Amino acid sequence: MRKNVFRFLSALRLTLGVLALLALTATFLDFTGTVAGWFPWLRGVQFMPAVLAGSALALAVLLVVTLLFGRVYCSVLCPLGVLQDLVRLVTFGRWRDRKFKAKPGGPLRSAIQGWTRLGFLFAFAGGGFLGLHFAWLDPYAIYGRFVSFCLAPLVKASRHADSLAAWADGAEGSFTRVVEVVVPASGFILVAAGVVAFIAAFAAWRGRSWCNTVCPVGTILGALAKFAWFRPNIVADSCVSCRACERICRAHCIHIDAKAIDHTKCVSCFDCSAVCPKGAIKWKR
Ligand code: SF4
Ligand code: SF4
Ligand code: SF4
Repeated sequence: MRKNVFRFLSALRLTLGVLALLALTATFLDFTGTVAGWFPWLRGVQFMPAVLAGSALALAVLLVVTLLFGRVYCSVLCPLGVLQDLVRLVTFGRWRDRKFKAKPGGPLRSAIQGWTRLGFLFAFAGGGFLGLHFAWLDPYAIYGRFVSFCLAPLVKASRHADSLAAWADGAEGSFTRVVEVVVPASGFILVAAGVVAFIAAFAAWRGRSWCNTVCPVGTILGALAKFAWFRPNIVADSCVSCRACERICRAHCIHIDAKAIDHTKCVSCFDCSAVCPKGAIKWKR
């Protein structure tokens, strides 16, 4: 495929991701239940809620999509993933990776990262099994708590909750209804904001490193994405080792010296193909 096609796919992926992020945020801020009714499927396909609800259909969809196209969930549907991309876009992260050589890391770093991912996955699964509170590792819960604990009270304070409710009810006038918003204890607000601030700082510093070091959902999807039917591969004969792809990769999963891509970390964003001057990245099995 031509570079322009990949540029389009890259922009489309980000656009869809931002729309999904906005829609999910709106459902968390929806004090009337109206918006949630517009996108019922968007919450339904979130990985951990689907697991907890035992939704075989949603899990089957995620499984098939990942086996076909890689970690599309991470590039479009996960609010925390898209949030990290936006942070990287508006902070120094992308500039830094372009200016300096992004370091995908050698075998030792990859091994440490791999064991760390597995450790968090087992802590998450084991903790859940034992009833311990490891939900702070679930990306949907992290984002949901951030919006509900930190943003919802702000929206309420600005009185938009009342006007939204009035609008949803079809009421005349803006501030005819008073909506109750439960403000959590300050400790919860601080933790929710702190976790997201930490992940955002991590994203500015090293792109999707949270996704590929900590997130248990990413570890599970990465294990499936390794066998994806449509995934990027470097054609060694066409590659001129300019390293443009290595620098732009948000997942730091391209190893140009080895002409290899770690598909467990790739989040199918198309950025590498969009910058490759030689069309040396082919999407195939
Ligand atoms: S790895 Fe986790 S936090 Fe990152 S995009 Fe995927 S599900 Fe979301
Ligand atoms: S290798 Fe990196 S830049 Fe290319 S699609 Fe995967 S995550 Fe994106
Ligand atoms: S951008 Fe293309 S040519 Fe340059 S290093 Fe990457 S694969 Fe090779």
